[in-house]
Amino acid sequence: GDEFTFILSSVTKDETTIFVKRLLNIFKKSFTLKDHELFVTSSLGISMYPTDGEHPDVLIKNADIAMYSSKESGRNSYSFFTQEMNDDYQKKMVLEKALRKAIHSNELKIVYQPKMNIETNNIIGMEALLRWESSDLGMISPAEFIPLAEETGIILPLGEWILKTACLQNKRWQDMGYTPIPVSVNISLRQFYDGNFVESVMNILKETNLDAQYLDLEITESISSANINSVISTLNELKAMGISISIDDFGTGYSSLSYLKKFPINNLKIDRSFVRDITSNSENRAIVKTIISMANNLNLDVIAEGVETEEELKFLKSNGCIVVQGYLFSPPISDEEFERTFLKQHNEPAKTKYK
Ligand code: C2E
Ligand code: CA
Ligand code: CA
Repeated sequence: GDEFTFILSSVTKDETTIFVKRLLNIFKKSFTLKDHELFVTSSLGISMYPTDGEHPDVLIKNADIAMYSSKESGRNSYSFFTQEMNDDYQKKMVLEKALRKAIHSNELKIVYQPKMNIETNNIIGMEALLRWESSDLGMISPAEFIPLAEETGIILPLGEWILKTACLQNKRWQDMGYTPIPVSVNISLRQFYDGNFVESVMNILKETNLDAQYLDLEITESISSANINSVISTLNELKAMGISISIDDFGTGYSSLSYLKKFPINNLKIDRSFVRDITSNSENRAIVKTIISMANNLNLDVIAEGVETEEELKFLKSNGCIVVQGYLFSPPISDEEFERTFLKQHNEPAKTKYK
């Protein structure tokens, strides 16, 4: 593929460093292909004989592990293999194996967190969040296993399962007579870029019989770093189906704001890191105010996530943000508990309809 091996004989670590720096320098310049100026990044991993292995296959494997470590630390860099990298790698392999098993062994479930309108005190939506309780490894946070699922591609079948389970649950609640509200599902970039994504969403809606207006997809703003035209066309297809789109963790990416105008999106979710300390941190206050007024100007709905205190709520309310999510109202909870605490309380079931 796009991987190459160099074998240097009788060199010290310092001499190797000089060599790899020269290699990295080559890639600082652009390459010209027809009329296009292209930049290529490279990541290097180094293993030394005999400390990092006495056999070629071990040396290559360890150089590979070091290379992945370089990639993770931001590309265009080099790393010497360390035992610590090897430990991380082994841990990841164990996790990956357990995750592949999890899908088929009922270890995964979805919890729901309400989105509240603080003026009417009604729930206007819910976010589906994945939970994994591994029989071997215990409770594992999505922050740990979602990136691994993305890296390994497991996110594709996993993401489909999440979407389907969330849509099915939402439809079940509607059939029980509760006032319909949309369910928001987090979509990872890898899923979004997958060529079959739109089709798979369409099939899931058909299969579960959920009306598209009750599905919202949460996508992070890093989608704007990819091919803009293809992102816009995917978003347009989803929108044409009746699905709404939210930009998650808004404000944490480094993307240009111009895409906000171009993307057919419905909601901006202010990242938790800005809501935190809103009462004591004047920079966060300024950022949140700016996001809210920008959203208003662009005719987008704005949601604040991670609201934990009354003070934060008060600030948001007085600045025109009326939809919030956070521990102040509820952490994400199981479907049974969600039904008991929110659906039954906030909107009494109408006449139950069985189909
Ligand atoms: P996210 O989409 O930004 O989700 C919000 C996270 O904040 C959730 O963590 C939620 O439990 C937590 N949270 C909600 N309210 C509060 C609060 O008031 N205070 C604090 N401190 N935290 C709050 P969680 O469930 O651990 O998920 C972490 C991340 O993992 C999510 O961030 C999302 O990026 C990813 N994730 C979770 N479930 C899925 C999924 O089904 N698919 C994909 N692709 N990613 C998921
Ligand atoms: Ca989210
Ligand atoms: Ca978020």
